[in-house]
Amino acid sequence: MRWIDQEKIELPEGWLAKAAAARKEMDDNGLKPDDFSDVWRCLKDRFALLSDKRCWICEAPSARSDNAIDHFRPKNRVAEAAKEPSGYRWLAFDYRNFRYICTFCNSRRCDVLGGTAGGKADHFPLRDEAVRAYLETDDLDDEEPMLLDPCDEADWKLLGCSVESGHPVAATDDAHDVERVNISIDLYHLHQDALKKLRLTHIRDLDQKISYAKDRYDEMDGTPKRKKKFKVAVMAIQRAISPGADFSGEMYNHVKKRRDNDYPWLQSLVG
Ligand SMILES: [Zn+2]
Repeated sequence: MRWIDQEKIELPEGWLAKAAAARKEMDDNGLKPDDFSDVWRCLKDRFALLSDKRCWICEAPSARSDNAIDHFRPKNRVAEAAKEPSGYRWLAFDYRNFRYICTFCNSRRCDVLGGTAGGKADHFPLRDEAVRAYLETDDLDDEEPMLLDPCDEADWKLLGCSVESGHPVAATDDAHDVERVNISIDLYHLHQDALKKLRLTHIRDLDQKISYAKDRYDEMDGTPKRKKKFKVAVMAIQRAISPGADFSGEMYNHVKKRRDNDYPWLQSLVG
C-alpha cells in the first residue's frame, strides 16, 4: 500500500454535474446507487493512472486481476452496522470515497488450497460502532475506520511484510494500529497464499539488492568506476521502493527495518 493523494485526481469535464444529477434522480425515485454505476466506472482509467495501474491496497502486479472502483465507505449496506438501514448512500457519487482496487481485495473469495478467505465487500468496521453515520447530517469525522486507507497519508506506513514467509505484518508497535493492520489483512485478503509467495520473492530480492549495494559501498576507493557501481546498486533499491513498483509500500517499510549506522545511505533512501 502507498499513499494516494486524492487531490491529484483529475475529473472529466462535466463529471461533477453528472454525479449530482445521478444523486438527485436516485433520491427522487427511490433508486439504488448501482443503477448509476457508470458514474464511477467512467473514472476507472483516471484512477489507475495514480498508481501505475496497481491496486491501491495490495500493489500486486496488475495481472492479479481486473481492478475496479470500490466505495471505501460502502454505498449499499455495512456488514458491521448495529442498525438498519445502513450504508453511505450519500457518498455513492463522491469521488473522494472511491478507491481503485483489485477484485481479490474487493470481493469475498475463499482460497481453498491456502486455507484463507477475504475480500472487503460490504465490510467497514469502526473503532466505536456507536458513532457510525447513518445520515448525511451525521459527522463522518467522528468515525475511526479500522480498515487501512490508501488515501490516508499515515496508513501505508503501518503495513510491513515478513521476510520469512511473505505474510503481511504490522510495521508498528501501537496496539490500536496493530489491530487495524490485522483486520485489514483479513478483510483485504492480503494473506492469500499466492500473494504471500509473490511478496516473499520480492522481499528476498530486495534483501539481495541491499547486500549487493553494501558490498559495492565497502569496495569504494575514491575511483569513479567503483563510485558508479555503488550508485547503480543504490538505484536498483530506489526503484524497488518507489511508488508504482510491486508492493512498494511493504518494500519501503522493509528498507526502514534494514537501517544501519554503517551504511547511512540506506537511511536516506527512506527519509
Ligand atoms: Zn488488491
